Amino acid sequence: MFRSVLIANRGEIALRVARTARRMGLRVIAVHSEADAKAPFVTFADEAHLIGPAPARESYLVAERILEVAKRAGAECIHPGYGFLSENAEFAEACEKAGIAFVGPPASAIRAMGLKDAAKSLVEKASVPVVPGYHGEKQDAAFLKEKAYQIGYPVLIKAVAGGGGKGMRKVEKHLDFEEALSSCQREATNAFGDPRVLVEKYITAPRHVEVQVFGDKHGNVVHFFERDCSMQRRHQKVIEEAPAPGMSPEVRAAFGKAATDAARAVGYYGAGTIEFIADGSKGLRADGFYFMEMNTRLQVEHPVSEMITGFDLVELQLRVAAGEKLPVTQDQLSIRGHAVEARLYAEEPERGFLPSTGKLHALRLPSGEGIRIDSGVIEGGEVTPFYDPMIAKIIAHGPTREVALDRLRAALDETIVAGPKTNTRFLGALIDHPDFRAAKLDTGLIERNLDTLGVLAPVTDEEAVTVGALALADAEKERLFDAGTMRSGWAADPWSQADGFAMHPGRESIIRVSVEGEVRDIRLDASASGRLAGLTQGSRDFRLVRADGAMFVLANGMQTEVRTVDPLDVDLGEHGGDGGGTVKSPMHGKLVALFVSEGEIVEKGQRVAIVEAMKMEHPVLAPRGGTVEAIAFEPGAQMGQGARILTIAEEGAK
Ligand code: ADP
Ligand code: ADP
Ligand code: MG
Repeated sequence: MFRSVLIANRGEIALRVARTARRMGLRVIAVHSEADAKAPFVTFADEAHLIGPAPARESYLVAERILEVAKRAGAECIHPGYGFLSENAEFAEACEKAGIAFVGPPASAIRAMGLKDAAKSLVEKASVPVVPGYHGEKQDAAFLKEKAYQIGYPVLIKAVAGGGGKGMRKVEKHLDFEEALSSCQREATNAFGDPRVLVEKYITAPRHVEVQVFGDKHGNVVHFFERDCSMQRRHQKVIEEAPAPGMSPEVRAAFGKAATDAARAVGYYGAGTIEFIADGSKGLRADGFYFMEMNTRLQVEHPVSEMITGFDLVELQLRVAAGEKLPVTQDQLSIRGHAVEARLYAEEPERGFLPSTGKLHALRLPSGEGIRIDSGVIEGGEVTPFYDPMIAKIIAHGPTREVALDRLRAALDETIVAGPKTNTRFLGALIDHPDFRAAKLDTGLIERNLDTLGVLAPVTDEEAVTVGALALADAEKERLFDAGTMRSGWAADPWSQADGFAMHPGRESIIRVSVEGEVRDIRLDASASGRLAGLTQGSRDFRLVRADGAMFVLANGMQTEVRTVDPLDVDLGEHGGDGGGTVKSPMHGKLVALFVSEGEIVEKGQRVAIVEAMKMEHPVLAPRGGTVEAIAFEPGAQMGQGARILTIAEEGAK
């Protein structure tokens, strides 16, 4: 066995590989970009080397620099993880040439499976069923259109060099073919530098069923059963499970044979995945599935296979790369229970699944029976715009699919992320969806149900806004009397329970907050206090995280960020700077009296308001004469120090 490994990757997969390597006694060598200097996978490693700036192109994708570090550090092998250089045949070759083992298949197999058209031709020769279609050389538009017609609509145009769901167009009718073709070619050129496409039959009620294969350098190939990855959005996996619901032993054997045949056809060793598309309209059948592509690496969703088989696939990868024989034969492998994985992303499903970045003010990932978490970030860390915004993979195992789903659902309820927005609520809704629960799976389920899944438009959780505003007001008040304690208190532990504060009876004020950029005034009075008690003691579970000057209210897998608005920041532009006409609160305090109204003419030095702080009244005087404008607070309001109470415009200036 190797004594050291360099991991040419980052994030959760780098950490996941490192853990197994450490357990096996290998020295763990990390490489990282400037943006990842403090990432958990870097801290965990025995040694770490900076390889460049944040953009992957200048760090994680620079093969020469990584090899240089590997040689210098004396790495005996390189694990590429997934993404980045994992399917780069030149890199695999360069490793071997440098005398460093590449933890992956032979470069020839990566190459053979690298282009979808060539891969289809190749496995077809090994009698593996492929999706009916055209995957030849000719790229002439009229010719491809004719082929599409022969195949029969709907068809799918696919970039031969495609990956990650990019470069694919479903075409419903002959009339739309040309336009779809050219837009697909454009995308393929941009994303992969290769405009070539293939055209294939669009399988109806498609289910994505893939088989985990494993080969060694002694000619043995086995499979670790299948995974169903039909829960997709834009051809990207959202939830994956193993085994595939509705798979009979006979059909499983057919899938397994096709997959291992395909792997053998390219002299495969190491971990790989054969992706099939199955026609789900009549259930999974031995004559109803087709080869789509092979991923010649470890897959994101490999943990579900590990959980149902009890094998550590990274350990097997390292053993196979070191020349060991596979420790099992096919008939020694069996399935135990059911496992489901959800990809927790920093994104906003309610705004078109836009990635969401920023500091993770709070991060609590679930634990419990049958729960496994693969994550690469920690509380206080950051989700940057440079890489895939996945926060964690939450994987649940149970004796049955039902139990596994229940565990995953409960785990999502326990998940707490403050800072970036996440898809927690969306994942929960998907797991609760009756069709998903009933295992009526197909790749269109999500897209068809965006409405029921609650992601068509942003929503504001009004109760969370109230809770957040009240909590903020309370925090402000406490800070007024004991700033030191409050600050350190919050910093040491940003956690707070919503029932941990109470309104002071008989006081009334207004707190001005911003919610998603919208400014609101929330009245804090006795009824607010009652409202809050009702909310926090009611059936809903609110969690509060105070950080970055805001209150993050977490409920139902959604985050509502409530921020106090410094009235100084409001309306200033309108008045083009204050020119000495701004009347500010001299301290944190309550506006107990306001003697003027808008439009009124005041003289310089005239008393316009009274602020109460520490039980003392402080008169506020007009800094100059003019017209009163833009009153920002009502009597009773709590104001921060320096908050703008009103503006005095020069007489006649308006
Ligand atoms: P899978 O079926 O395992 O999800 P994908 O091809 O979609 O396979 O990609 C695997 C993972 O690798 C994804 O999470 C994706 O974000 C990441 N990935 C893919 N290509 C790259 C790349 N060029 N650079 C960095 N990460 C990548
Ligand atoms: P990528 O390299 O981007 O992963 P794939 O060929 O694996 O590309 O296809 C990605 C997804 O597109 C599949 O998981 C499936 O949901 C859908 N898909 C691919 N081919 C077909 C097809 N012929 N019919 C229906 N859906 C398909
Ligand atoms: Mg694929």
